[in-house]
Amino acid sequence: MPGTHRFEGPSDLHLHSAFSDGTQHPADVMAAAHAHGVRTAALTDHDTTSGWAAAAEAASSLGMTFVPGMELSARHEWRSVHVLAYLIDPDDGPLRAMTERIRSSRLDRARLMADRISRDYDVVWDDIVAQTTDGATVGRPHIADALVARGLVRDRAEAFSSILSPGGDYYVALYAPDPVTAVELVVSAGGVPIIAHPAGRAGLLPTRLIERMLRAGLAGFELGHRENVEPGLSTLRRLSAERDLIVTGSSDYHGLGKPNQPGENTTADDMVARIIERGTGNAPVFP
Ligand code: AMP
Ligand code: FE
Ligand code: FE
Ligand code: ZN
Repeated sequence: MPGTHRFEGPSDLHLHSAFSDGTQHPADVMAAAHAHGVRTAALTDHDTTSGWAAAAEAASSLGMTFVPGMELSARHEWRSVHVLAYLIDPDDGPLRAMTERIRSSRLDRARLMADRISRDYDVVWDDIVAQTTDGATVGRPHIADALVARGLVRDRAEAFSSILSPGGDYYVALYAPDPVTAVELVVSAGGVPIIAHPAGRAGLLPTRLIERMLRAGLAGFELGHRENVEPGLSTLRRLSAERDLIVTGSSDYHGLGKPNQPGENTTADDMVARIIERGTGNAPVFP
């Protein structure tokens, strides 16, 4: 495995900054990961690579290895599917066009949700804008933060289970590609696609869809994640072993936005090495 031996574990390959719905600057995200003992870290903001440069620089100064990543939004019928995309070429045309489309639709959708919420609650669009970093991928977490700032809910979790719930009156779906297209885009950009939290409470994706994603180049599954539950987890563990797929573990740290802490789940060194070997669109930044 030429070139992959230089990283050091523990590795946490799923962290968010304020360039999406994390609450910290990328440099502070890397510092938080370092403080929790993480030595190889990926920044995986939703639908953007804007935080990479700052994260890479901070990671280097801390003596850590930085793995560039992204969490690409996809959708299957009514449900969100998140595809972690490691070592993509950030300048790949089709992938960029897709992330720009998703981000712009996220903005329209957040405005629509804000309009609906404003009818019943004392919160306006400017309150939401005030919760976002310039250029950030906007999402429900920012609306949640505005609701918290207005004293309407206690925290993001309460906002998600009430006002922002998909079953509620205020929810608007965002545009996202189907999961097979998402995998194809990541592969074409030289990246390594891994399904994030694939066994969450919504249950497993249909087997036929997973098979189609694997044929499109899906590399594996993020099995070590606090939201994964049985029996889906065991099913995917079995499938991964049978097909020799990549399995990862990570925190999905969002700063103060979620209780998840850096390093609470980690990815084994041999799996990190496989990701680095397989990614052709980019390379890790070694210390
Ligand atoms: P969106 O993509 O805008 O629909 O928002 C989904 C995002 O909200 C995900 O990326 C999660 O990180 C975050 N999220 C979902 N549920 C919760 C929750 N209960 N508490 C905090 N953040 C959440
Ligand atoms: Fe998120
Ligand atoms: Fe996710
Ligand atoms: Zn995430």
